[in-house]
Amino acid sequence: MAATIKTVGVIGAGQMGNGIAHVCALAGYDVKLNDISADRIKAGMATINGNMAKQVSKKTITEEDRKSALGRIGVAEKYEDLGTCDLVIETAIEKEEAKRKIYAELCQSLKPEAILATNTSSISITRLAATTDRPERFIGIHFMNPVPLMELVEVIRGIATDDATFETSKDFVRTLHKTIAVSEDFPAFIVNRILLPMINEAIYTLYEGVGNVEAIDTAMRLGAHHPMGPLELADFIGLDTCLSVMQVLHEGLADSKYRPCPLLVKYVEAGWLGRKTQRGFYDYRGDKPVPTR
Ligand code: NAD
Repeated sequence: MAATIKTVGVIGAGQMGNGIAHVCALAGYDVKLNDISADRIKAGMATINGNMAKQVSKKTITEEDRKSALGRIGVAEKYEDLGTCDLVIETAIEKEEAKRKIYAELCQSLKPEAILATNTSSISITRLAATTDRPERFIGIHFMNPVPLMELVEVIRGIATDDATFETSKDFVRTLHKTIAVSEDFPAFIVNRILLPMINEAIYTLYEGVGNVEAIDTAMRLGAHHPMGPLELADFIGLDTCLSVMQVLHEGLADSKYRPCPLLVKYVEAGWLGRKTQRGFYDYRGDKPVPTR
């Protein structure tokens, strides 16, 4: 475990939050999981339980590891319950206003020396840090989805992040057995700066009728050897998150090449957000995913 970190708070028990809680608990940290929705915490805990059971059956962890890791995860109903945390990782929705609101309330409950990290996919770390009482102890720790399986974590310093916070954060990530890529603080960092415009272009390809969903995903799976087609991947990430990242790139870099595809906007407006709502570029409500276009 990282020397100065024993207890980790996780704000947001969605697909990223439950994965982050999962890997932290397995690495030996005490974890406190928070969400505005009690149902999401319940669902998050069930997912962690199920995913750890899969790891036991694949023999990547033992039943004993699973039991003790689950025992290390507690629920934080209120931000005051995060007062003993040495590190809090915020992984709530990708909306700057929502994150600012969380920090304004949360910081009142944190220990002065606690590190506050965000798992944002795209928003400026420097700008988010400036809204807190601790810009020097604020940092981006950006996990990939699904967290228990993906090897990479991007670490992003804001302009004010101090060396101690940067070093402690990197030590912490190493204890989770992840590889670090350090990124400068520019919109969407490294992975999403490259990945999301590719996904957006795939949606334009669909929008302009160059190919249908099946043709586009098959083309990229077999023609470029991607493990998932770009539209399947968009559904997996969440179309709301994809749109938010494209908006941050478009606004932050002021280049029309990042214009979000109108078809992506339409799917989000319909509430078809991908796997998490059971419908996106594919319909997941039956036995097999069926393309929606
Ligand atoms: P999600 O929609 O699955 O989960 C978000 C969770 O945050 C929900 O459970 C929601 O109830 C909760 N929430 C909303 N407002 C809250 C508040 N005020 N306090 C506490 N909880 C609150 O989204 P996700 O895919 O887990 O994404 C979360 C964050 O992680 C975003 O910033 C996103 O950009 C980032 N991220 C996502 C991916 C991905 O592939 N989905 C990858 C890396 C990073």
